[in-house]
Amino acid sequence: MKIQLKHLTKKFKDVVAVQDVNCTIENGEMVCLLGPSGCGKSTTLAMIAGLEMPTEGAIYFDGQDMSGFEAEHRDIGMVFQDYALYPHMTASENIQFPLKMKSVKKKERLEKVNQIAEMLQITKLLHRKPGQLSGGQQQRVAIARALVKQPKILLLDEPFSNLDARLRIELREDIRTLQKKLGITTIFVTHDQEEAMSISDRIILMNQGCVQQYGTPQELYRSPNNLFVARFLGNPPINMFHCISEKQHIRILKEPDWRFKEDNIIHVNEISEKGILGIRPEDFSVVSDCGQIHTKIAAIQTLGKEVYLRCQSKDAPFIVCLRWDKDYQIGDLLELNVNRGYLFLADDEKEGMILNEK
Ligand code: ATP
Repeated sequence: MKIQLKHLTKKFKDVVAVQDVNCTIENGEMVCLLGPSGCGKSTTLAMIAGLEMPTEGAIYFDGQDMSGFEAEHRDIGMVFQDYALYPHMTASENIQFPLKMKSVKKKERLEKVNQIAEMLQITKLLHRKPGQLSGGQQQRVAIARALVKQPKILLLDEPFSNLDARLRIELREDIRTLQKKLGITTIFVTHDQEEAMSISDRIILMNQGCVQQYGTPQELYRSPNNLFVARFLGNPPINMFHCISEKQHIRILKEPDWRFKEDNIIHVNEISEKGILGIRPEDFSVVSDCGQIHTKIAAIQTLGKEVYLRCQSKDAPFIVCLRWDKDYQIGDLLELNVNRGYLFLADDEKEGMILNEK
């Protein structure tokens, strides 16, 4: 099912929760709604589900305007953060529930439950009640319940937030595999950029009710539209330096010796003179001489195959991410080159962000 959001806007009195969102989600795509707390992700999802009515704009499923359709007539499966299972029912009864509401006969119900339970690897748990299941198992049951009616659309609102890191990875891999297998159009709300990057075909990154960028994880990471997008994606985050643009060169304001040829610098916004140079931690390389940057290591964090070095500058400390193939010491001098940088405008306080006009 193809989903189109056209000029979608939601106001709660004077709060503009969602402002003029325009996106098309293709049939079979997995799209993440990503952004910080309060940016309008859940409200957007609730409007798609038919739980909230838009103040302006409309939602189309395969070209049909959904305005007059109640939630139960939208052919959607939904999964929430808090599982929302019925505690007095077994897992099997919970999964059967939507089929029972549609008066599906018991034999067919059980067949469908067995089918979906197998896909989610919960067959052995079907006789248990939610209180006898772990968080991850409960969420598998909730996903099975959302999918058992074979809906055309699956909506997930922070489904793995209550689970520990390892389980989150396991479940998100499984949901992605299942989503691809079923070819179901899926929208997944999260504020976790790593989660969004790892499972999405495309990401809708929102801030203050507005879409800042809609594209593949790679596009958002490597071709950010503005400073907000660049900062939101990446861990450790992108380093920022105040800089000045002068004749084919970019110079760091507080480190006048740090000069970069424009060849390796991507202009995200047009800057007049002063701007912000963003350099991702992995976009540095260590050289033995003629480095563009001379710095000293202030702190070291080792992570197995990688090492994060916090390095000194007169602007602000910055992080360099390198392969851990050498022992670094605090106080070591480093010569670095920049493989790629991003130049953002800074003379405008919005820094290229798309914001609500209140
Ligand atoms: P979170 O990640 O914290 O769930 P979110 O990105 O999903 O946040 P929303 O829940 O969509 O954000 O909220 C967007 C804005 O709308 C927030 O400022 C919120 O306070 C406001 N809002 C949401 N629901 C209501 C409501 N029923 N009444 C008034 N304001 C609301």
